[in-house]
Parts: sequence; C-alpha cells; structure tokens
Amino acid sequence: DTEALRARVREAIRSVPDFPKEGILFRDITPVLADAELFRAASALHHSHVADLAEQVDVIVGMESRGFLFGPILAQQLGAAFVPARKPGKLPAATVEERYALEYGENALQMHADAFAEGARVLVVDDLLATGGTAAATGRLIERLGGTVLAYLFLIELDFLNGREVLGGARVEAVLHF
Ligand code: AMP
Repeated sequence: DTEALRARVREAIRSVPDFPKEGILFRDITPVLADAELFRAASALHHSHVADLAEQVDVIVGMESRGFLFGPILAQQLGAAFVPARKPGKLPAATVEERYALEYGENALQMHADAFAEGARVLVVDDLLATGGTAAATGRLIERLGGTVLAYLFLIELDFLNGREVLGGARVEAVLHF
C-alpha cells in the first residue's frame, strides 16, 4: 500500500553528514533511482500528490539538476509538457533570468523566453525543498513569462527550514518530510 511504499522510499534515502559543506546533512536520492521498484514507487507517490491537478496542468517546470530526474516522468504521467529551468549559460536561445541568495553568495536560473504560452498553468518540481530560494526564483521566472504556478512539488521537504514560507502561500506538496 501507499504508506508502506512511502516508508520504503524514505528508508532508501541516504543521509550524508557535512556534504557539500560542514553542518549540512545531505539527503541523497540516488539509492532510490538505483532501484527500479523504488524509483517507480517514488514516481507513483509524486503523482498521487498532484493527481487532482491532471486536468489543469499544462507544463511541468523542473530545476537543474535533480528536477530533471522527476519532472519529465510526472509530465508524462499528467500529459503535460516539460520545461527545464537551467543554470546560466546552458540554454541556447533567448532567456530570462532570476537570481537568488545562497548561504554563501548567489546563484541564478534561466528559462527560455518562449518556453510556454502566456497563461500556461504550471507545476514546479524539484527533489528537495530547503530554504525555498531555488523554488521561489523559479516561480518568479514562470510569472515573468506569463504563467501561473498551480503548485510546487518535492520528493523531500526539510520542514525545519520553513522553505514553504517564501513561496507566498502557494500550494506546496512533498512526498517525505524530514
Ligand atoms: P533551497 O533553494 O535552499 O530550497 O535549496 C534547494 C536545492 O538545493 C534543491 O535543488 C536541492 O537539491 C538542494 N539541497 C539543499 N539542501 C539539501 C540537502 N540537505 N540535501 C540534498 N539537497 C539539498
């Protein structure tokens, strides 16, 4: 059943202390991807959190890099398009960019200016919600392109960081909470 699968996916996530720097407990999803049954279970759980949006969602936006692992599968499940949000300098045509603060320094994401039609209804997908900076920047990109964010979906939410608070009251779904 669903809760047994959720527990199995949770147990498979590897927690690596002090990566990529001291004090960060990195939640590594690669053991989930490496097991066909668990990868399928994770995809089914993702889908179950947003199945009610199937009729509404036009586009899935996934963030580089781990949003590229789960986003396209969900796009196929929902019959939606997939659009990547990428690190600067990767997309070849005209782009829009949003910067966001990291613990140390700054990062940015870009999307193609013509990635979707104005008025598109969008679901944002990434592996993990931490501070919410990445997801919030993606939401701003989508709005600049004339899209509407229906929801943000993650495999993992780090509840203690309150990342959903920077997402302006948007719907936020997560398969697992740590
Ligand atoms: P944030 O912008 O702070 O919400 O960070 C989210 C991004 O950083 C996601 O793309 C995650 O993949 C990655 N990330 C942040 N913290 C962790 C963590 N503890 N374990 C794994 N990935 C993380």
